[in-house]
Amino acid sequence: MDGLKGIRDRFLGYTAFDTMSDASACGIRRPTTEGQEKLLEHLAGELEALGLDVYYGEEKVVMGTLKGNAPGVPVAFMAHVDTADDVPGNGVKARVWEDYDGSDIVLDGAVIRRSENPDLARYIGGTIITSDGTTLLGSDDKAGVAIIMEALSYIVSHPDILHGDIEVFFTPDEETGSGMDSFPYDRIRSRICYTVDGGAEGGVETECFNAASAVLTIHGSPTHFGDARGKLRNAVTAASALVSALPGSESPEATDGRYGYYCAESISGTAAEAKVGILIRDFTSEGFEHRIETVKALSHSIGLLYGVRIDSDISVSYRNMAEANKLEPKAMEAVDAAARRLSIDLKKEIIRGGTDGARLAEKGVSCPNLFTGGHNLHSLTEWVAVEAMEHGAELLVAIVGEMAG
Ligand SMILES: [Zn+2]
Repeated sequence: MDGLKGIRDRFLGYTAFDTMSDASACGIRRPTTEGQEKLLEHLAGELEALGLDVYYGEEKVVMGTLKGNAPGVPVAFMAHVDTADDVPGNGVKARVWEDYDGSDIVLDGAVIRRSENPDLARYIGGTIITSDGTTLLGSDDKAGVAIIMEALSYIVSHPDILHGDIEVFFTPDEETGSGMDSFPYDRIRSRICYTVDGGAEGGVETECFNAASAVLTIHGSPTHFGDARGKLRNAVTAASALVSALPGSESPEATDGRYGYYCAESISGTAAEAKVGILIRDFTSEGFEHRIETVKALSHSIGLLYGVRIDSDISVSYRNMAEANKLEPKAMEAVDAAARRLSIDLKKEIIRGGTDGARLAEKGVSCPNLFTGGHNLHSLTEWVAVEAMEHGAELLVAIVGEMAG
């Protein structure tokens, strides 16, 4: 597909925005950092220039709508503008390695080794983009933003491409986990919304965990310890028993693939009151409900055993998007057909985590996660190939084509 060649400069432009998010500001300001707001405003302007209807309201999510020029299934694409804070994420100075020769890429602060990055071989002769090695690059998820924008601009400039309504969403604060706390849920019309927030070229993620977090508050009955016999009900002892009772073989460190887990995430308190935080993860609905019931039963039993009151507050964080994907089989059929047409080898993967899409999946919107081409995300050795982003944009254009008619 000629005409997607602007993606390199488009992506480089986005990397210049300082959009590292700040988890400590969640609930205080949205977006959590000013740079995100600047990029969101910039993107709203780009969408307007392309002729889309733009909504940018108090949710701080940019929404663009391109009216269809033909009947078709409405489809949405979504990416996040913030970057992670695992390593410095602001002040990115991107480096472009044209006609990549296949050798190790030596940066100021890091080396991207061929031996550790077998996918580099796919792009010999192509163009690799990295940071200078002192920051991350931000392909997570600015490559996703660039792919969506490039695909839109291509569609707008090719009126012969028939398409139904297209909606796009750019969100803040994905990395802080608060990105979807506020979203124009009442405005989205599409029942299919692809997130473009994956990794290596060809990867498509259709399943994620069901996730809940439990906060168990243990109310002890403290007394003077010297006079405690028969009276003290120690919340710390009960908290420790609770954590010890979780099966070690069902912990994050003992599981992979499709196995779910309980994770003792936090513990704090005194003899008077202690809190235990437990993360619950499972791929199946039945397994998920079972784990939630188990945590409730466990806290009840430990409460009886230690003579303390335990309040359990369990909230669902997100659900496996596979359930919603089943409601809209067209979502994956279109990806399969589009990839076949473009000779892109798809690799279907499961995520032992969640995506922003999983929050939409709770509302019955099907949200497969598509690749961006990014590698070594959240690190100094992050890299993306321009060709992978071009293929990502081609895939979106082809998906839109599959949805028309
Ligand atoms: Zn991401």
